[in-house]
Amino acid sequence: MNDAFKALLKKNRLSLTLPRRELFSHLRSYGPLPVAELIAALPQVDRATVYRTLETFRELAIVQDIITGGQKMVELTDRFSPHHHHLVCTNCGKSVDIEDAPIENRLTALARLHGFTAQTHQIEVSGLCANCQA
Ligand SMILES: [Zn+2]
Ligand SMILES: [Zn+2]
Repeated sequence: MNDAFKALLKKNRLSLTLPRRELFSHLRSYGPLPVAELIAALPQVDRATVYRTLETFRELAIVQDIITGGQKMVELTDRFSPHHHHLVCTNCGKSVDIEDAPIENRLTALARLHGFTAQTHQIEVSGLCANCQA
């Protein structure tokens, strides 16, 4: 289990309950996911608890809501999952995380060129995955 996650819960006087642990690890391995898929993937946690836990996670900035492939999904924030971008299949909805340091540096440089201090950005590339092209 992630140390920063445990420390943050402790700081907010929240215990590491089974639902919190399961939700966090599942998002870490398989996020971003629509809430419905998260519920389906965790039959041991009831639906209301998933919603309530996500609410707590949002307040603590552990997760964020993103729109990817036109679908609302939840994913861990950059603090808990390294910053990345998404490739999204417009046919089946498959999402792949991509990372690339030169893109990050280039975006920061471009922002600076325009007098901006870059804080966050999201990049999504839409297209067809390998399966859907076949
Ligand atoms: Zn696809
Ligand atoms: Zn980036």
